Amino acid sequence: RQIKPYRSARPPRDGRSWIDLSLTENPLGPSPAALNAYRHAAGQIHRYPDWSQDQLRHAIAARHGIDPNHVICSAGSEELIHLVTQAFAGPGDEVLCHEHGYRGFLRAIRAAGATAVVAAERDMVVDVEAMIDRANDRTRICFLANPNNPTGTYIPAEAVLRLRAGLPPHTLLVLDSAYAEYCRRSNYSDGTEIVENADNVLMVRTFSKMHGLAGLRVGWGYGPASVIDALNAIRGAFNVSVAAQAAASAAIADTDHEEASYAHNAEWLPWLSRELEHVGLRVYPSVCNFVLAQVPADPSLGVQTILDHLAARSILVKPVADYGLANCLRITVGQEEENRALIAALAEVLG
Ligand code: PLP
Repeated sequence: RQIKPYRSARPPRDGRSWIDLSLTENPLGPSPAALNAYRHAAGQIHRYPDWSQDQLRHAIAARHGIDPNHVICSAGSEELIHLVTQAFAGPGDEVLCHEHGYRGFLRAIRAAGATAVVAAERDMVVDVEAMIDRANDRTRICFLANPNNPTGTYIPAEAVLRLRAGLPPHTLLVLDSAYAEYCRRSNYSDGTEIVENADNVLMVRTFSKMHGLAGLRVGWGYGPASVIDALNAIRGAFNVSVAAQAAASAAIADTDHEEASYAHNAEWLPWLSRELEHVGLRVYPSVCNFVLAQVPADPSLGVQTILDHLAARSILVKPVADYGLANCLRITVGQEEENRALIAALAEVLG
C-alpha cells in the first residue's frame, strides 16, 4: 500500500528572509513569560522531564477550571491524535473523519492500520448528519476538528451535541479544538462541557497556535479517566521536554499575551478576508488565524502561477491540493506589514 510521507509546505530558504504565511502560527510569537521560562529551563536540560507532567497539567487545569487528573500532555497535539488512534483503533476498525478535515487524522489512522471513512462536508462546513450516516458497529473513533483547518469554519455546540448523540455508544468522539482560542462566538463550545457530560468524548488542544509554541511541540487532552488512562498507558514516559513543560506552563497563565494575540487576529482576519476578496479571490468565512481562499477558474491563472509570483517576492502561503482543494490557498494572518505585502503582491498578479 502506498503511503505518502509528510511533506513540509516550506521550500528551502536559500538565505532569503521570507514572509511565511504558510503554517498556522501566531504572528506575535510566544509570550514573553514563556520565553523567560524557556530560558530558565535551559539550565535543567541535563535532567529528564517530569514524567507525571504535574506542573503543566495543573497550569492547564487552573486556566480552564478543569480536573488536572483528567488532563494528559503530549509532544504537540499531533502526538495525542496518534496516541488516541493507536489506543482505540487498529486493523479492521473504522475511524470517521470529515471531507476537508485536518490531515493529521489520516496520518494517525494509517499509522494505526485502521480504515479511514470520510464523510462529505457541505460548502466547506462539517455535515453532522453525513457523519452520523457513515458510523457503524466498526466505528471506533470519530474525529471532528472544530474549527477546522484548512477550511477555517466551525459548527455550533448544538451540532456537536447532535453528532455525539447520533454516534454509536462504542465510538469515541475526538474533538480537536486547536483553534478554539480564536473563536469567541456565543454558539461555539471548545468541548470542555461536552467532555464533562459524556464518557466517550476526548478534547484535544495545542500550544502551537494562540500560545505561539509550535516549535516546542506541546499539546494536551481532556477526557474521562478511562480514556486518559489508556493514553497514559502507551505514551512515552518523557514525551514532553523540560523546556516545553516550563514554557507551556508559563504561556497558559499569560492571559495578556493571549488577549493581544486575539485582538491582533480580530483586527487582521477581517482585513485580510476583505482584501483577498477585493483582489478577486473567494474567501470562506473563517473563525481561525488563517483563511481559505479560492482562486478564480481562469486557466491562465492557477494556484501555481500565484505561488510562483509570491515566491519571487519571498512570500509563502500554503497550497491545499492534498485536502482535495486544488484551486485553494490557505493563508495565515501575519503581522501588519506581512499582510499588506501579501495583498500588494496578489494585486500585481491578479490585476
Ligand atoms: N489539529 C489541527 C486542527 C491543526 O490544524 C493542527 C496543526 O496545524 C494540529 C492539530 C496539530 O498541531 P500541533 O501538533 O502543533 O499541536
